[in-house]
Amino acid sequence: MDHFLYRDGLLHAEDVAIPEIAAAVGTPFYVYSAATLTRHYQLFTDALSPLPHLVCFAIKSLSNVAVLKLLGDLGAGMDVVSIGEYLRARAAGVPGERIVFSGVGKTRAEIRAALEGGIRQFNVESEPEMRAISEAAVSLGKIAPITVRVNPDVDAKTHAKIATGKSENKFGIPIARARAVYAEAAKLPGLKIVGIDVHIGSQLTDLAPFEAAFTKVAELTAQLRADGHEISRLDLGGGLGIPYERSNEAPPLPVEYGQMIQRTLGHLGCEIEIEPGRLISGNAGILVSSVIWVKEGEGRDFLILDAAMNDLVRPAMYEAHHDIIPVVEAAPGTENHPIDVVGPVCETGDTFAKQRNLPALAPDDLVAFRSAGAYGAVMASEYNTRPLVPEVLVKGDQFAVIRERPTFDEILARDKVPAWL
Ligand SMILES: *Cc1c(COP(=O)(O)O)cnc(C)c1O
Repeated sequence: MDHFLYRDGLLHAEDVAIPEIAAAVGTPFYVYSAATLTRHYQLFTDALSPLPHLVCFAIKSLSNVAVLKLLGDLGAGMDVVSIGEYLRARAAGVPGERIVFSGVGKTRAEIRAALEGGIRQFNVESEPEMRAISEAAVSLGKIAPITVRVNPDVDAKTHAKIATGKSENKFGIPIARARAVYAEAAKLPGLKIVGIDVHIGSQLTDLAPFEAAFTKVAELTAQLRADGHEISRLDLGGGLGIPYERSNEAPPLPVEYGQMIQRTLGHLGCEIEIEPGRLISGNAGILVSSVIWVKEGEGRDFLILDAAMNDLVRPAMYEAHHDIIPVVEAAPGTENHPIDVVGPVCETGDTFAKQRNLPALAPDDLVAFRSAGAYGAVMASEYNTRPLVPEVLVKGDQFAVIRERPTFDEILARDKVPAWL
């Protein structure tokens, strides 16, 4: 249940009809449902409720400050991968004690800024980074809480671009080297070891790779404790997948994921941290677009929309599927026909779907891309000088623009022509 449903033949976001938002904001735009975000966060906290835990929302999936405030006010922690995301979390009122800093390339400046602002932990990804955190902590007179992100060498069985837990990926420290790295961490000044971190990839639709990784983490916890380290937190990363193609996908539910965590790690007495992004934000958002033209091609027709790959890059980048539905519900018995759904950007990569079965649509008709809340607006660009797509949040019968579409004057004002030209 995601609160994007037809009512009286019109797609609604909670209690607001989509055409009402389209009339106020113009297309294309993203719209998020507060009730869906809340519900998804709650599913995770409920699933982990038998254990001490913190659900840290992966900001990179959907980073609008209004969304972060909504989740932060519910008690969520945040997982950030840059100081920019850290600043977003803080702007949303989330205290440093609930922010974990992940990412394979934290700079010295980012490390210092997070230490100064307050941070729950750094998830360390390499030895040079660990030494830099130690130096920064010493020079600031602070203690930096750390976990080491281990790479468990398991195949997440997901798209190659978002698999992170195989030894050939750039992420984490090979689990076989973990004991040596923890031994070095224990000797470095300014660091406090608090636990272990693992994140094996995104859009996982099977629990088995998670279970394989978490089993290795359980073994490592015992070894590290025997070596004399205090392991009190286990950060298990994010990655639980969502059903993009509703008709034929059923990924595991958060409750099943929670049960598996209890089974594999519950006996260790650790606080569990998880970093879900997509499962909280993915189905909480849609991208609404209007039809510009319907074009007859040679042997196939094209539905040309005013949204493009710069607004939603997932199909071009990850061969991702998004369900596309008309905002005005097709009458029962309406026939569907295959059509290529494309944007106006000048490359063939700007194709959302090939030969998708859709009812006949005409210029100015509205369509919605489902499951577009995660890795949608955050990955948008202004390619082809198309203004950055706006974002809208709905709660009950209220809606608000939470990121405005920039004007062309604003876009052009960012370019500077040097005086010597
Ligand atoms: C991307 C990422 C996440 C979130 O992944 P989802 O698939 O959106 O749940 C969590 N932790 C880390 C370290 C990540 O890189």
